[in-house]
Amino acid sequence: MGDNSVAAEQVRTLKKKLDTAIKARAIIEEGFNRQSGQLIQFIAKLSHVCKGIDLELDNKLAIFRTLLTKSAPLAEIEIQINVISKLLLKFAARNDSNIKALHQQFQNSGKILQKIQGLPDQLRRDLRTSLQDNSDEKQAVIQYVSPLTQLISLYETALKSKVNLAVDNSAETTTNTNTKNIEKKVDKKIIAKFSSLLDELSLSELQKPQISTIKKSLNAEVSHEKLIDCFIKAFDLVLINLQSERETAESFLSTLSKTLSTVQLAVKNTLSIHDTSQKEYHKLNVQLQEQMKDVTSVVEKASTMSNIKEEINEKLLLIASTIEKKSNLEQKNQQLLENQLSSMSTQIDGLEKQSKEFEVRLREQQLKSLQDALTKLNNRAAFDEHFAKEMVRFQQKQFELSIAVIDIDDFKRINDTYGHTAGDKTLQVIAKTMKRHLSKNIFIARYGGEEFVIIYREIDKQQLVKSLDTIRQQISALPFKFKQDKVTITLSIGATHVRKDDNIHLAFERADTGLYQAKSSGKNKVIYLP
Ligand code: GH3
Ligand code: MG
Ligand code: MG
Repeated sequence: MGDNSVAAEQVRTLKKKLDTAIKARAIIEEGFNRQSGQLIQFIAKLSHVCKGIDLELDNKLAIFRTLLTKSAPLAEIEIQINVISKLLLKFAARNDSNIKALHQQFQNSGKILQKIQGLPDQLRRDLRTSLQDNSDEKQAVIQYVSPLTQLISLYETALKSKVNLAVDNSAETTTNTNTKNIEKKVDKKIIAKFSSLLDELSLSELQKPQISTIKKSLNAEVSHEKLIDCFIKAFDLVLINLQSERETAESFLSTLSKTLSTVQLAVKNTLSIHDTSQKEYHKLNVQLQEQMKDVTSVVEKASTMSNIKEEINEKLLLIASTIEKKSNLEQKNQQLLENQLSSMSTQIDGLEKQSKEFEVRLREQQLKSLQDALTKLNNRAAFDEHFAKEMVRFQQKQFELSIAVIDIDDFKRINDTYGHTAGDKTLQVIAKTMKRHLSKNIFIARYGGEEFVIIYREIDKQQLVKSLDTIRQQISALPFKFKQDKVTITLSIGATHVRKDDNIHLAFERADTGLYQAKSSGKNKVIYLP
């Protein structure tokens, strides 16, 4: 083999190596390009994740992405990396404070929900667990997504359970309820309470038609807005009534004060008249005494009868004129005093008339405050007062004292089926019937709603039960008719005699227990507990 062929062989070998090296470099370059492409894509995606957090950061990241995709020089990329790093640091600090605020907000909202009454037990347990599990602050906002979602769903459940309550209430009393109207309807208990409060208001006769208009609009269908309107109207009536009461009292007091000033002035005048006249009388008396002395000295000094006669005549004329003066003065003063007295007595008459009217009004008010406006029976306050007095008397001097508690059976049904006005009329008829049965000395009161109490004196168990049973029978025999329906209304009654060791509450409670037993054993009966 010659030198040339060796050299040619070496060149071939070198070329092969070179080709291999070029291929290897191409492979490496391709791998690098692929990897840096992936890295650029990853950085771009990562920067997209941050998008929306901060406008400035968004802009810088957009520039950074463009630099990466167009393979900008490293120096340019480095500058952007520095800018973005600083922004990210700033953002991290803000992020920390946002997390703190979010944590606080989460805990606060949870605690507010915990304070709401009437939440279902399970909800309460879930809420407590969620607040405990998330009591420590988290590191990233994203970690709050799950607990916040959970809290929102607890709030949702709480709201639904409240709505369900409303559904339950109305389902009790109304059939075919339109669910859309549920929230608009008002709890019937509020209507009944408001209605009985209206009965208890002791307003003037003039306001009665307005009160009855308000009562008529309180039916089962009344909306919250309408109810509030009724509250305001009733409130206005009370205010007007108070105002007029105040004006009456003010006018009475002003008359009283005027009369007193007049009387005071008259007394002062009388005293001054008296004083002046006393001085004038004194002057006239002195004058009279002088004149009498003159007469005496005339008699003493006189030498002849004719002289005496003449002189005495003269003096007597003077005395007569002084006496006349005195009498005129007396008449004048008498007249002045009479005038004063008559003006005083006119004033006093006026005052007396007004104070009598005031007294009548006060007595009416007092009566009204102890009377139930709907049934005209005694009210609860009157019962409390009467029973307390009877108990004191009973303790001083034991006698047969008994109490009965009466409750109308299924009265809610009357209201629900025939309306509140029908319910009111029923109460009036029942009250009247019971009162008619009882003699005047037996105390009966409307204790509240559809409950009544009777206090008997001096009757034994047998007479008591007989009287109450008669009432029960009379009521159940009343021919009530509502909307063409014949309706029978019955009473349940509990009764007892007051015992030596009783107090007001014990005796009442025993009668009430009797009533409860009457209800639970089928209603329409009297149960006496000794
Ligand atoms: P029970 O036999 O167990 O006594 O049943 P009830 O329906 O009579 O008793 P409940 O206590 O459930 O209802 C009493 C009803 O009396 C509720 C209320 O609407 C009605 N009510 C109370 N006061 C008045 C009132 O002044 N006028 C009218 N119309 N209804 C009243
Ligand atoms: Mg009742
Ligand atoms: Mg009842």
